Amino acid sequence: MEVPKIKLPNTKLFINNEWVDPVVPKTFKAISPITEQVICEISEGDAADVDKAVKVARDCFDNVWTNYTGEERGRLLYKLADLIDEEKEYIAQLESLDNGKPIKDSFGYDVFSSSQTLRYYAGWADKVQGKQIPLGEGFTSYTRHEPIGVVGFITPWNFPLMILAWKFGPAIAAGCTIVAKPSEETSLTALYFAELVKKAGFPPGVFNLICGYGVTVGNAISGHMGIDKVSFTGSTRTGKTIMASAAQSNLKKVTLELGGKSPNIIFEDADLEFAAIGAKAAMYFNMGQSCIAGSRLFVQESIYDKFLEIFTAKVKELKLGNPYDKSTEQGSLASKIHFDRVMSYINKGKEEGATIHLGGGRYGDKGYFVEPTIFTNVKDSMTICKEEIFGPVICILPFKNVDEVLKRANDTEYGLAAGVFTKDINLALQVGNKLKAGSVWINQYNMVNIQAPFGGYKQSGIGKDLGEYAIIDYCAIKTVAVSH
Ligand code: NAD
Repeated sequence: MEVPKIKLPNTKLFINNEWVDPVVPKTFKAISPITEQVICEISEGDAADVDKAVKVARDCFDNVWTNYTGEERGRLLYKLADLIDEEKEYIAQLESLDNGKPIKDSFGYDVFSSSQTLRYYAGWADKVQGKQIPLGEGFTSYTRHEPIGVVGFITPWNFPLMILAWKFGPAIAAGCTIVAKPSEETSLTALYFAELVKKAGFPPGVFNLICGYGVTVGNAISGHMGIDKVSFTGSTRTGKTIMASAAQSNLKKVTLELGGKSPNIIFEDADLEFAAIGAKAAMYFNMGQSCIAGSRLFVQESIYDKFLEIFTAKVKELKLGNPYDKSTEQGSLASKIHFDRVMSYINKGKEEGATIHLGGGRYGDKGYFVEPTIFTNVKDSMTICKEEIFGPVICILPFKNVDEVLKRANDTEYGLAAGVFTKDINLALQVGNKLKAGSVWINQYNMVNIQAPFGGYKQSGIGKDLGEYAIIDYCAIKTVAVSH
């Protein structure tokens, strides 16, 4: 498969607005999941590099950044958003090369959402304010929303640039400085983002980027005594490790955006064509490598056969192929490790007695492409129905009535998202209120708005990304009481 030759970003560590070598010089490989070829070598950081970055971020926070007004921080965010937009074609190409996602999505979703998020928080930067709280005659009390300090970001490979922007925006609006680690599978757009941060005029030390592995760099961030908060997006298993490390070190605050196994419920009165389009997008967007993927599709028994026929026809239409072809809708999975994991889940599903209704195989013989896959005859207790596969694999599950489907939909350790398709708005609201999930979508799916909070119930996470709610998570709230 042909991929374009494009310039690569600086691949060293980014500390204090300088590109530097690790304390112990080492590199790791960036591999394109489209070609399985090495793209470049990237400097691999370690705990000593995190330590250097934290010192710089602390010094900047104490002596420089706190003197910037909200309006000045907002202006820098606007500038950064403009720089991203000026180079959106290039950044989208870089993301697809590193991650394997279709260029149409890198461009139209990842890069677009990144600059939009920065603009949204640019508008907030001079509006981070506390409240005046009446205490009675002779007393005045008010709250101050102060920046929490130095924050650590640990981010995943499914939306590498966008999730970094989701965290960068509110952290900067609140007035924090940052030490970030992208996923070792997809570091390239984060490295380019660092170049743009410097170009936008952010002072040295505000943003520092240390590439490398979770067990070294990630662990050093979550356990560092000089970091006041860690914001993590990734698997529930890693989230628990990070929370334990945060607690055992300095009890740093955590925001955890974790995994999901989201139910999507199609009632018998739904517009079946429309619901099938929604269910397809819910599952196969980003090749199912989406924490909100509607991977448990509950379909009311009376329409099961008809819906399955319509849904299958729509999934068959998905165009799989070279991510650089603008008409491609399904690219490759992000890495070999992940490809092997998804294929092992498909095999597990077969072993446990589920039926492959569509797909189930590798596409082509180069690159980590997996066919959109539909499993039928699935039991709720099967591994493929309980665990997050994070690939293009859906379980279709018939149900009889509302009580039954609610019980089964909520019978999961996760609680990130859920969908409901019906023309009966009373039913939709009744079910929506009872679903234990951080986002519930009615007659639509994947509607993640920058303005609205996003984050999970149960083991899908703690805290919120996006919206006004995310900013408060980067603040320390102080109460000042005055007697007069
Ligand atoms: P992952 O947990 O394997 O890795 C995420 C990040 O954590 C990477 O940067 C990794 O290097 C780092 N890491 C790994 N071990 C670590 C450790 N011991 N200490 C500190 N850091 C460590 O997740 P992934 O495979 O990159 O991403 C997929 C997961 O992310 C899925 O479970 C998905 O649901 C979840 N996700 C959640 C959201 C959300 O907003 N809720 C969004 C996207 C992805």
